[in-house]
Amino acid sequence: MKLSQIGEFGLIELLKKAESGKLKADTVVGIGDDAAVIQSPVTSRQSPVKYQLITTDTLIENIHFRLKEISFFDLGYKALAVNISDIAAMGGWPTHALVTIGLPKKVTVEQVKQFYAGIDFLAKRHGIDIIGGDTVASPKEIVVSITLLGEVEKEYLLTRAGAKVGDAILVTGEFGEPAALRFDSRKWKVESRTREARIIAKSRMATSMIDSSDGMVRSVIEICKMSKVGARIWLDSVPIAKGATLDQALYGGEEYELVFTIPRAKAIEIMELIQKKTKTKVTIVGEVVARKRGIKLIDVHGKVLSPESGGYEHFK
Ligand code: ADP
Ligand code: MG
Repeated sequence: MKLSQIGEFGLIELLKKAESGKLKADTVVGIGDDAAVIQSPVTSRQSPVKYQLITTDTLIENIHFRLKEISFFDLGYKALAVNISDIAAMGGWPTHALVTIGLPKKVTVEQVKQFYAGIDFLAKRHGIDIIGGDTVASPKEIVVSITLLGEVEKEYLLTRAGAKVGDAILVTGEFGEPAALRFDSRKWKVESRTREARIIAKSRMATSMIDSSDGMVRSVIEICKMSKVGARIWLDSVPIAKGATLDQALYGGEEYELVFTIPRAKAIEIMELIQKKTKTKVTIVGEVVARKRGIKLIDVHGKVLSPESGGYEHFK
């Protein structure tokens, strides 16, 4: 079978099925969430109340970025930012990073220094230590891969699983801007919602959370899949960024906003809490329904639509 037939999400599903039956007792969350969660001996000795979080994300030249559209500083910044977003989506905070670079000969020492300046800028802001990595030659294109470790108090851990029928679906920020800007990295910067994520986690009211790297609708689909529920998304509620279309807001991706679920009665409380502490806009975009009702979009006229398979998917 060709990769294009099942796509990135289908392939990960296959890998997950093959691996998840044989997990050890100290693996709390394996394949399928924004970060893996383990009960490491180190965290449990130092602090029995915390879990270790681990995530990794890779950027490939001409797939994720074009050199004429991004500086080396911004490339370093982005490579770390997308990983920080995944740690935040679990309710935790980042601590240590491993940085791997695959470089063709065209890259200069000065450019690598700039790349690290971008990483260090964000690392300093979040108190992350760069503790290692790997440096290799690449035949043609630049490859950047960061593995980020983090921590979370056990009672604050949020995963993609846990959404309950009757929960409201909320999102931070607005959607569609990167797509409207044709993903030109010079025009927008990844701002991971670390403070908002911690507020949501510490409130202990949310039932699930994900970061919206692959698009808003895709995020809801992932929560539904892991939580074994369905969803209704109200199209007239979706916060669309200036200049973007509804389709770009629904499927565009690269926003790194938070999508989370919370019992309906608590929705207003969490919105006010986040807005008071961060000024970040939070919007209710839908509700969680029974799995058998599926995932549907409701337009202004009450018409029920099925989500398109939009958004970026590798191999497709
Ligand atoms: P995100 O968009 O949040 O970074 P991904 O869509 O990249 O998440 O990955 C979803 C899940 O699949 C994660 O748990 C990730 O660790 C896992 N995953 C992705 N690729 C692989 C792989 N090649 N082998 C095992 N697990 C993988
Ligand atoms: Mg993610």
